[in-house]
Amino acid sequence: MKSFLIFCDNHMDVIWRRGCRQHYRSVDGIIRPYVDLEEEQIRRALRMMTTSDYRYTLEQSLPLKLFLERNPDQLPVVQRLVDEGKLELPGGGETLIDLNMVCGESLVRNHLYSISWCERTFGTRPRTANGADLFGYSAQVPQILNQLGYDVLANSSRLFDDGTPFWRGLAGATVLVRPTWQNLGNPQVFAPGGCIRPPARCCEGEGCSKCGYRGMDISDENLRSDETLQRIFDRIRAMESEPVVLRITGEETLENADAIARLVALARKSGLDPRFVTMTELVDAADGERLARLRAGTVAENEIYREVEKNPICTGCFVSRTRLKQWNRRLEAMLVAAEKFAAFACPFGTVYPRGKIEGLWNQMALLQFHDAITGSHSDGAYEELLGLCRNIARGAWQVYEEATRTIAGQIAAPAKKGYRAAVVFNPLPWPVDGTPVDIVLDVPRGETVRGIDVVDGRNRRVAVMAVEPVQNAVGGKLGLRLTGLRLPPHGYGTIHYRFSDAPPAIRPLRGNVLENEYYRITLDARGVAEVFDKETKDVILRNGVGSLVFEEDYGSVWETLAAPTFACSVAQYSKPSITLVGNADVTTAVIEGDFANPRIQHERNVGRIKWRQEITLYATAKRIYFKTTVDWDTHNGRLMLVFPLSFKTPDDEAHYEIPFGVLARKRYKGEFGIHTRPNGDWPALNFIACHNADKGYWVTVANQGTPCHRVENGVVKMTVVRSPCIALSAWDTKGAREVGTHVFEAMVSSGVGDLRTVNPVRLGQEFNAPFIAAPADSARTRPLPAECSFLGHDNPSVAVSAVKRAEEGEDLVVRLYEPYGAKVRTALENLPAKRVAETDLLERNARKTGGLVFRPHEIKTVRVHPAAADRVPRRRH
Ligand SMILES: [Zn+2]
Ligand SMILES: [Zn+2]
Repeated sequence: MKSFLIFCDNHMDVIWRRGCRQHYRSVDGIIRPYVDLEEEQIRRALRMMTTSDYRYTLEQSLPLKLFLERNPDQLPVVQRLVDEGKLELPGGGETLIDLNMVCGESLVRNHLYSISWCERTFGTRPRTANGADLFGYSAQVPQILNQLGYDVLANSSRLFDDGTPFWRGLAGATVLVRPTWQNLGNPQVFAPGGCIRPPARCCEGEGCSKCGYRGMDISDENLRSDETLQRIFDRIRAMESEPVVLRITGEETLENADAIARLVALARKSGLDPRFVTMTELVDAADGERLARLRAGTVAENEIYREVEKNPICTGCFVSRTRLKQWNRRLEAMLVAAEKFAAFACPFGTVYPRGKIEGLWNQMALLQFHDAITGSHSDGAYEELLGLCRNIARGAWQVYEEATRTIAGQIAAPAKKGYRAAVVFNPLPWPVDGTPVDIVLDVPRGETVRGIDVVDGRNRRVAVMAVEPVQNAVGGKLGLRLTGLRLPPHGYGTIHYRFSDAPPAIRPLRGNVLENEYYRITLDARGVAEVFDKETKDVILRNGVGSLVFEEDYGSVWETLAAPTFACSVAQYSKPSITLVGNADVTTAVIEGDFANPRIQHERNVGRIKWRQEITLYATAKRIYFKTTVDWDTHNGRLMLVFPLSFKTPDDEAHYEIPFGVLARKRYKGEFGIHTRPNGDWPALNFIACHNADKGYWVTVANQGTPCHRVENGVVKMTVVRSPCIALSAWDTKGAREVGTHVFEAMVSSGVGDLRTVNPVRLGQEFNAPFIAAPADSARTRPLPAECSFLGHDNPSVAVSAVKRAEEGEDLVVRLYEPYGAKVRTALENLPAKRVAETDLLERNARKTGGLVFRPHEIKTVRVHPAAADRVPRRRH
């Protein structure tokens, strides 16, 4: 009897058309959340596994967690099925997150916490990584998977299309790719019903006894007719390749015990022997020989995919619902900063909030889900996600605030008569010197403050750029921006301040030039005409630097569906006003305009584009800051910030930051259509950098959470917002037009030397760093000095991804990576103990290390064991 394998899974998004946990109202009625649907699905699967040979593979942890929250009594059943090998634990992480727009640390935490949750709950971990339905695969994913103990990636990508079974990313890391979507010639039963399960007619989704209070119609069968099945079995009998795999899957569809029983009976009647397998069993049966070669290191070059990354597709997702991407960037930086200082605060008697931090990262995984951060969801889901962002922000800031206040309470700040003292913390692994630092200070209740004088720990004046006082009901706060402050890496410095009645003196300036020691920016009637770099003695940018371009973007939330036929400079039709203000510390050009061209507005559906830009130079920093505020209302359009370089790079090549690294990419020709058609854009994390090879310098354009970039004919184009109007499914995405006010920040810097010297990774992190201050006093019997670094490293081209407490024990864990593709070494500094061991991403398999020697693009995790007698850092920076 010919046998064949049946593989069952189900791609159930955790948030997309539906909310995750929230119900919402659409034109069709109440849309019930995924948690309801997944609960139904998992209950059915458990029942079938209990009563038959059926096997089921889960994709992500979150649905199982939510199921067990609602059904705690089912834990022993789940445990037994896991033990029996019938239920395969999810290898996709907490959720199947986007791999392009989140930082490397997010990729690690998504899997780390998922694996450790599985181990805690079931005493075992998933074996096969899952990457189903993702919109692109970034180049460090194989290395991350390898270091998590995975060498197989099951995926349903629209990209792995050339049949090569292996993918080699950066640092030589390789995984076997097991495609499930295309199915490679195997028959597949894809459950009908599609992804859209409308609210039940009986009650418009409210729930009633007719629909079993489900609020949705689940009556459709998930298998086709007997005739269809018979044809599939005929094919299976005729197939010569071994093994034959029948995949039963769906999206938002539910397994049906009767249908599965019918399928098995029909197969047997057709002279076939069906055998259910999980994903790992499928890989063993179908890819066993390849996997053995991968593990033996004997994979042939022609079996490896031609690129290190599989990108890009669904490029509209780099922009759609841009607020979530901005939130994500801020939240990642806050969480990374918060847990660093929570770890540094541990020697002072605080409890490390390990569980809280895990919970916050788990919430990040929902925000970063491949239909969440990508913007490809319904308006109801969007509201739920915005609420999630607010929650994470509060939690991360709470950890950050408590840790830094604990440390501040251990600091002996020198007294200065007439001044108060505060401590300013630097979450970056590099010293801060010259970059603006935004902090908030307390103002005693009832005290009115308009200005402030600040000096640093060495009594040097610190320039105050902006002061924003606010009196809340419970007390006052003063937001301020400081420049010229120097702070040691992963540490803090002390400032002294006194309130004054005089806000920072900013006066109007004459002329049309913004200037500091590093740059001369010349303005014309529309904005920036050119930027001259005094170091390279070269005009580096010209013709409307940082200005807005409106371009037609006929599309859906996923993609641009037709080649744009129109683009224009916004300033050209706005009659902008330009004013210059400043003093010795800062100069700013304020440019304001309101797009007004009735013909274009009518033809291109531009309701409103009101805009204001502040272009700022600080005396202390070789950086140009662009803050753009836009109030817009358009249909099927996009806004780009453009940075026209004074030079061109070969094929418009630029270096883009990716998770855990930097990658050179060239311009490619855009395509337009539904899914998988990339329109010319690339995703970037904090920056892209362009090289003027003739003159030996780099221009870096950094962003704050707006990842969509391209370079065209020497013009860097950063798309910041779009208004897609084409609904590709029957649910509500009107909110994706993002009508209203947005703020986008960008920063430009130029530097001479090679990429590692210019170090745009550092520039980008600095531009996104959340600084924090805490009150201090001058008690003398405190263990910490006025200025201190808890951790440094001696090679600034190595980046630090995380500093945290180990998941188990008291060790400090430091994760570093080499972003630029060079072989380098570094050593950790300022640590209380020197017992350093290298581990994998699960913080296991520790091996002693002398120095930290990095292969190009290598990610390293080290554990630092605290010596009991020496847990408090003594070293003054
Ligand atoms: Zn999906
Ligand atoms: Zn009903």
